Amino acid sequence: MSASGKKRVSYFYDAEIGNYHYGQGHPMKPHRVRMTHNLVVNYGLYRNLEVYRPKLVSHTNLTRFHSDDYVNFLRTITPDNMTEFSRQLARFNVGEDCPVFDGLFEFTQLYTSGSIGGAARLNSNQSDIVINWSGGLHHAKKAEASGFCYINDCVLAILELLKKHQRVLYIDIDIHHGDGVEEAFYATSRVMTCSFHKFGEYFPGTGDVLDVGIDKGKGYSINFPLNDGMDDESFEKVFRPVIGKIMERFAPTAIVLQCGADSLSGDRLGCFNLSLKGHASCVSYVKSFGVPTLVLGGGGYTLRNVPRCWTYETSVLLDAEIKDCLPYNDYYEYFGPDYRLHMPTSNMTNLNSQKYCEETTIKLLNILDDIEAVPGVAVESGGLNGQTPKGMDIEEEGGQDDGGKGDDKREGKKGDLKTEMAK
Ligand SMILES: [Zn+2]
Repeated sequence: MSASGKKRVSYFYDAEIGNYHYGQGHPMKPHRVRMTHNLVVNYGLYRNLEVYRPKLVSHTNLTRFHSDDYVNFLRTITPDNMTEFSRQLARFNVGEDCPVFDGLFEFTQLYTSGSIGGAARLNSNQSDIVINWSGGLHHAKKAEASGFCYINDCVLAILELLKKHQRVLYIDIDIHHGDGVEEAFYATSRVMTCSFHKFGEYFPGTGDVLDVGIDKGKGYSINFPLNDGMDDESFEKVFRPVIGKIMERFAPTAIVLQCGADSLSGDRLGCFNLSLKGHASCVSYVKSFGVPTLVLGGGGYTLRNVPRCWTYETSVLLDAEIKDCLPYNDYYEYFGPDYRLHMPTSNMTNLNSQKYCEETTIKLLNILDDIEAVPGVAVESGGLNGQTPKGMDIEEEGGQDDGGKGDDKREGKKGDLKTEMAK
């Protein structure tokens, strides 16, 4: 696709997602994805989107990254039988932060299916941009749940993209370090991970600027550790040069962008001070390169602000202007007292000095200067500027090897969803 002009933007959503509950008092609320969808619909943005209900991936697809015993455990465990599994609950870190709840496995299948299905659409060049706001659960490990995440859909989507793409870039603007994704690709030069996150006495504790990858992957893990109070201006000043340099040196042919909304001002668990415009400026900058991109959700714990953020970012991806005055929607009362899209930031101190931001940026630019430019592709074979490397077949839609076990009702639901949304 070209860097200019209208993009073919697809959007994966399953209306079931909002029905799952982590439990009373738990900050992670899948309902926020339903609220986002409702706002996207009521702004009329869906008219410019290709809307799909994901075709459910089978459990075997999940074992491309996760261990068989961990996936089998997630398929088996329920609130009713969990007392019989105390040893496994501890081993797989399921319990408090990552509780057992009704429909847990279906929930993980739902959010993961949108990400893998989205990657498959990019692989077959059916879309330029695919959005799955229910995805982005970046903390899950090969055989361990972590930080409200059970299955790592980001990793599985990247593995799908690697079927077609020699180099995939993962960018993470969630306030937490994208540790599960970094760990999965720490020793390879085919995936570069780049995370901007709060660092120091903060979950998950990893993501130092000195953690750059190992073996062939050395220099292909990029971490920008940040302090409290990060604001729009500072974020743009660190994000653009680092990502610009990555695009120049690594030249990915596909991108996965994790848009965790817990980096917004006023997040229940976060401590940054970004506005919607500051957060979306990252999305807009990544989009400007014209590389096929999978856009995912992630964290986000102030319920009324997450739909604001992801709706606004949907509009940015569509090049559609939307008004600040919120349209009437099913969750209108959440957005009082102002009922506006954009939200104010606070007067909190930004503990990231200009000197710190500049020095850390220079450290990362130096790491990027030292990597092999455009690894894996001979100079004469091209593969730059967002083109798919030569000699790659185009797969059929779907692309997942789940043997067609997905529910028939889930295929190509565009028409049905539009009917549903027209109500
Ligand atoms: Zn987070």
